[in-house]
Formats: sequence, C-alpha cells, structure tokens
Amino acid sequence: MPTEYYNEDAYYLAQVEAAYAVEPLQLSPWLTNICPECDGSWGEDSHELIEGTDLIAIGCQGYWIISPEAVGLPLGNWCDWREGF
Ligand SMILES: [Zn+2]
Repeated sequence: MPTEYYNEDAYYLAQVEAAYAVEPLQLSPWLTNICPECDGSWGEDSHELIEGTDLIAIGCQGYWIISPEAVGLPLGNWCDWREGF
C-alpha cells in the first residue's frame, strides 16, 4: 500500500470506525467529545465524528485524534495530544 494512502482522512476514519466497532476499549485513551485543537464543541461541522457517536475522530484542523497505531496504521510523525502538542 502506498504511503500517501495512509494520509487519506477517509481511510483513517474508516479504520477508526472499524476498530471502534470491534474493540472500543482499545481506543478508550483517545476517545473524547472535546476537540483538542479548539477545546470546543464537536457539534461544529468541521469535526469528523465516529459514526453513531459524539466522539471525535478528526479535529477541526485535520488532526487525527485517535492514535493511528491503535487502528492499525503507521504512527508516522503523529503526536499524542494527551501529552501536549
Ligand atoms: Zn475543533
């Protein structure tokens, strides 16, 4: 699989939703309904939620909130928001 493909938000979101459906507890450290990028509401249009939940998968600036590694993708240069950016 080409590296660029990993950068696709849609692919990431699909991976998150698949992982959440199978093993939600595995993602629990990163599950939040407060966007770490704006400290604000997930209700804004610009946040991508895990389908059927109020949990944010992609922040309003495009940040991947749940560790890519936890959903089977390479960690790359992803930084964990829980440790500060
Ligand atoms: Zn936000």
